[in-house]
Amino acid sequence: MLTRQGECHQCGECCRTVNITAVRDATLEQHGNRKELELYLGYRGIRVVGEDKEKNQLHYAIDIPCNKLGEDNRCQVHDTPEKPLICYRYPWEPDDIEQCGFRFLPTAGFLPGVSGGKP
Ligand code: SF4
Ligand code: SF4
Repeated sequence: MLTRQGECHQCGECCRTVNITAVRDATLEQHGNRKELELYLGYRGIRVVGEDKEKNQLHYAIDIPCNKLGEDNRCQVHDTPEKPLICYRYPWEPDDIEQCGFRFLPTAGFLPGVSGGKP
């Protein structure tokens, strides 16, 4: 089990990209292979940034900055009802943004050998 630690330091990176998850096997069947898929999507500005074979997922990223992101990297609708819930909850699981001030570390009670943890 992982616990989120750290804080947002307003780098703005999570507000510059739209991430999409696709069904891996159906998509690869349609396009033949991943290289063909990357060619097809690449012409439209969509990057294939990862895959999870166990969950049968492909991960896409599209570089589209949110128009609510200010020049100071702050959200212009923060603390208003106009801010989407997903933005308040981000990141809820490990992501691949290196600049992000949040990290996910194993919960102490679940570390092997730590008192209270499961054997
Ligand atoms: S609404 Fe605010 S927090 Fe959400 S993506 Fe846009 S700038 Fe970022
Ligand atoms: S990537 Fe992380 S640190 Fe940067 S703005 Fe988003 S939540 Fe904050």
